[in-house]
Amino acid sequence: MPLCIPGETAVCIHISMADDLSRIAVWDPDEVIIRVARGIQVRDVLREVRDILMIDLGAPASRGGPLRCFCGMRVELPCELLPRVVAAGVG
Ligand SMILES: [Zn+2]
Repeated sequence: MPLCIPGETAVCIHISMADDLSRIAVWDPDEVIIRVARGIQVRDVLREVRDILMIDLGAPASRGGPLRCFCGMRVELPCELLPRVVAAGVG
């Protein structure tokens, strides 16, 4: 399993909820966080996050599967999203 080390610190991509976003999901390279807006359909959030991971960050393809960091580790979703992910039948 390759390590995930942009710069010197081992970090993996995290997802955090945020208010006042101009888009559904925004990549923050300084914090290694994808911020997602509250109150958006979970399906749309997952699609946006997946696009950022795969297209912008070169993460492994994960259509229909769990989201993955560019090192291959699973990206954990915020608890706030999880109940609705299950309800939506995604992941
Ligand atoms: Zn990683």
